[in-house]
Amino acid sequence: MTQDCEHDWLVRGRTLALTFTIDDWQGPVEFISRCTGCGRFALLRLLYWTGVRLDTRVFAVSLLGNEAAGTFLHDMETGYCDLQRHAAELMALVSSAGPIERVVTTSPGPVVRSSCPTAYAPSLASRPWREIEPGREDERWHKLLEDA
Ligand SMILES: [Zn+2]
Repeated sequence: MTQDCEHDWLVRGRTLALTFTIDDWQGPVEFISRCTGCGRFALLRLLYWTGVRLDTRVFAVSLLGNEAAGTFLHDMETGYCDLQRHAAELMALVSSAGPIERVVTTSPGPVVRSSCPTAYAPSLASRPWREIEPGREDERWHKLLEDA
């Protein structure tokens, strides 16, 4: 792992790997992505969405512990443990995520259109994605979205 890797979620035009999709509504709303450059894992959670078919999306990016994420994905792949345990493991992994480090906009699909330090994001409040009303807060997000 290199320290100075330009992770996929930092680079405009990169397609983020959908390493594990946690939740999906016409595209990912919460997912784990692995950097194709260095193998670092990140958790992406929907902050906001808008546009035709909701394909402009804003995600909060938090880094995940590589070991924890690797173990989780391995367990998922082997399909060894039961669903309840899957859910518990997922919850443990998500709650172990680091602070929000970046905000990225993607469109269409998981292609990075902009990536900003969190200071530029109007709201980092995490809420269930089903409660995020499309188009409603366009103005607040305009700065980020106009680059998208
Ligand atoms: Zn990287």
